[in-house]
Amino acid sequence: MPSTADALTDADLAEISASFEQSTPAEIVRWATETFGSDLAVAASMEDAVLIDVATKVQPGIDVVFVDTGYHFPETLATAERVRRRYPIELRVVRDESPTDDLWRTDVDACCARRKVAPFDSALRQYAAWMSGLRRADSPERADAPIVTRDGRGLVSIRPLATWDDATTDAYIATNDVVLNPLLFDGYPSIGCGPCTNRVAPGDDPRSGRWAGSGKTECGLNL
Ligand code: SF4
Repeated sequence: MPSTADALTDADLAEISASFEQSTPAEIVRWATETFGSDLAVAASMEDAVLIDVATKVQPGIDVVFVDTGYHFPETLATAERVRRRYPIELRVVRDESPTDDLWRTDVDACCARRKVAPFDSALRQYAAWMSGLRRADSPERADAPIVTRDGRGLVSIRPLATWDDATTDAYIATNDVVLNPLLFDGYPSIGCGPCTNRVAPGDDPRSGRWAGSGKTECGLNL
């Protein structure tokens, strides 16, 4: 029997995405939960819990997938624990079980494929759709990101925060006392693994500290 994700054509998804341009994140999450039920997960990087805050107000108990790459900052792992305690979520921490190595020094694409993408892809196999906190304001590469699309896995990828700019996001964080990774206040506006995340000067592209000097801009989860 085809899943809901299969039943929705790419044209359907494009139409749905366009219809959400003026919608609130909560309205988009509500559509996602009503459409996919328990076949829906939230992906979390533990940079902030904005999407988790929005999603759990609509659907307490929702599954949240966090990839522990083995290279996270201690602050990121502590944030994951704070998020687990604060919000009504089913937190699934997934990881590649092989010992950490120095692959990131020589081949960041291969390292991300092994430590991030493979465990994430494996975790997503039980779902038809997933939500991420991706925003168009994150970077020029994300400026045209659809709100709803089909990803390279064939799953429906939903970005309820896509249209939020920094001011709107900051206001939501302040109003709702959202859990944040403390590194955001220490010169890391975009937080990935320790070896691949540098501090960024005020006013510079927030994502310029990720894989600096390598030409890489995305880890591959959002493909
Ligand atoms: S961000 Fe760096 S350390 Fe983390 S998985 Fe990718 S290459 Fe490896």
